[in-house]
Amino acid sequence: MGLMQSHPLLISSLLVHAERHHGDSEIVSRRIEGDLHRYQWRDMARRARQVARVLDDIQLPLSGRVGTLAWNGYRHLELYFGVSGSGRVLHTINPRLHPDQIAWIANHAGDQVLCFDLTFLPLVQAVHSQCPTILYYVALCDQKDLPSDSGIPGLISYESWIEKQPEDYTWPQFDENAASSMCYTSGTTGHPKGVLYSHRSTVLHAYSAALPDSMAISARDAVLPVVPMFHVNAWGIPYAAALTGCKLVFPGKQLDGKSVYQLIEEEGVTFAAGVPTVWQMLLDHMKNENLRFSTLRRTVIGGAACPPAMIQAFQAQYGVEVIHAWGMTETSPLGSLCTLKNKSLTLPADEQMKLRCKQGRAPFGCDFKIVGDDGEPLPWDGKTFGDLYVKGPWVVRDYFPGTEEGALVDGWFPTGDVATIDTDGYMHITDRSKDVIKSGGEWISSIEIENIAMAHPAVQLAACVGVSHPKWDERPIIVVVTRPGMALDKQELLAFYDGKIAKWQIPDDVVFVDEIPLGATGKMLKSRIRQMPEISALREPAAEE
Ligand code: ADP
Repeated sequence: MGLMQSHPLLISSLLVHAERHHGDSEIVSRRIEGDLHRYQWRDMARRARQVARVLDDIQLPLSGRVGTLAWNGYRHLELYFGVSGSGRVLHTINPRLHPDQIAWIANHAGDQVLCFDLTFLPLVQAVHSQCPTILYYVALCDQKDLPSDSGIPGLISYESWIEKQPEDYTWPQFDENAASSMCYTSGTTGHPKGVLYSHRSTVLHAYSAALPDSMAISARDAVLPVVPMFHVNAWGIPYAAALTGCKLVFPGKQLDGKSVYQLIEEEGVTFAAGVPTVWQMLLDHMKNENLRFSTLRRTVIGGAACPPAMIQAFQAQYGVEVIHAWGMTETSPLGSLCTLKNKSLTLPADEQMKLRCKQGRAPFGCDFKIVGDDGEPLPWDGKTFGDLYVKGPWVVRDYFPGTEEGALVDGWFPTGDVATIDTDGYMHITDRSKDVIKSGGEWISSIEIENIAMAHPAVQLAACVGVSHPKWDERPIIVVVTRPGMALDKQELLAFYDGKIAKWQIPDDVVFVDEIPLGATGKMLKSRIRQMPEISALREPAAEE
């Protein structure tokens, strides 16, 4: 055996490091009250210890679940470290889900404490009677802001909950494979499924997230996670931030383009992360107001395919490098990130852009393969597509609470995505297997059809879905929201596809709508789009074609 020290990889050790070595790095949060709260890692660590103390005080058992319904902010961060660090499990719940789904999730997880921002008081009022396991309700606010007649039994303010606790605490040492936190998938197909992360998976993921070919986070960065802390742990940024000691900037609930831009400029943000729909609001605002970034250098965009037009706009107009990333709740979430290899830097600009539009390469820790219907691996030639499987120490083995058979196939997790992988290992998501359009035995990538539409100057948002067809099984339809004040007709958009894809892949129809339904994490909800009356009406197309 090696003769080196053995320390378990615990989330508390990230915080101890941040406090000892980066104690004066700032954490800035836009509060739901609207003002900016500002303190340092050392203050955060002190209050996280008070959280651990209060959980001991109420005798919440090890692995007991603490649910949150909260925006990105400093109190939520204190819970990230105080709950997990003391051996309990932090369960971040997506407040944008339907109340019935929230109650179902809280019951399934067996949450015993629920901490929530006052924004979500009506939600908690609506669901608390359906959540028998929850014993403590904590509002993330000052005592003075606590509503007196909430109707929620024993409701207490977070500040009065932790204030009397001593500020010292010895973080317990335990097996690094112990559970640390959990997230539920959004349940677009059936009930949501619980993914239970461990300290080890979280710390290894944090190391990897900070690497130069991942998000390249360092102590010199000011990092803005626009991606919510309830969306797969804000993609691991809170942990990677403690690991590097960077400055953290939290947007609270104000995710509109104007507020995000203001925060980036005022706080000197160098790196930001979010889903494409949120960045679209930022880019629209900047275009309308003719603004430029003075400090932002890089942004990671993922959670849904990033339209090439967005990558181009960030890079060419604003000098911001886009790192296109792919992942899922089940992969903690980083599964691939697109940064270029040395040999690609000499490629012509358009070739580089093609590469940047892919979802990228596997970080050490999340390997992937594509397989055919027979389960056999397919070649990495950039053309052959198949079902994407992943494995690694931060990939799920089974869903909560666990089963005998687990969730793997021969040790690999089937992602439900369809992808190609090229000779250099760049993975490109063609589609989710349930969104891919099967026309006459050939597959059409809905993402590709959307990306082309999104490059049209009059298109604000576009979704491609398949509708049934008597001859071809399915045909693509493009659903479009136009930019305010811009006109676009069907023929013009269809003509825009000419020469960009094969003729048979061009959508059969264009449907203009005022709004495309977005899911709880800001992604287009294809299932709801398919049910829109305008789309259902197309289900019975004329027989002859
Ligand atoms: P859900 O959307 O089911 O709630 P996740 O947030 O875990 O769950 O989403 C994971 C899925 O999002 C992936 O399986 C994939 O289909 C899609 N996805 C994530 N990032 C990308 C990306 N960069 N490009 C295309 N699809 C993506």
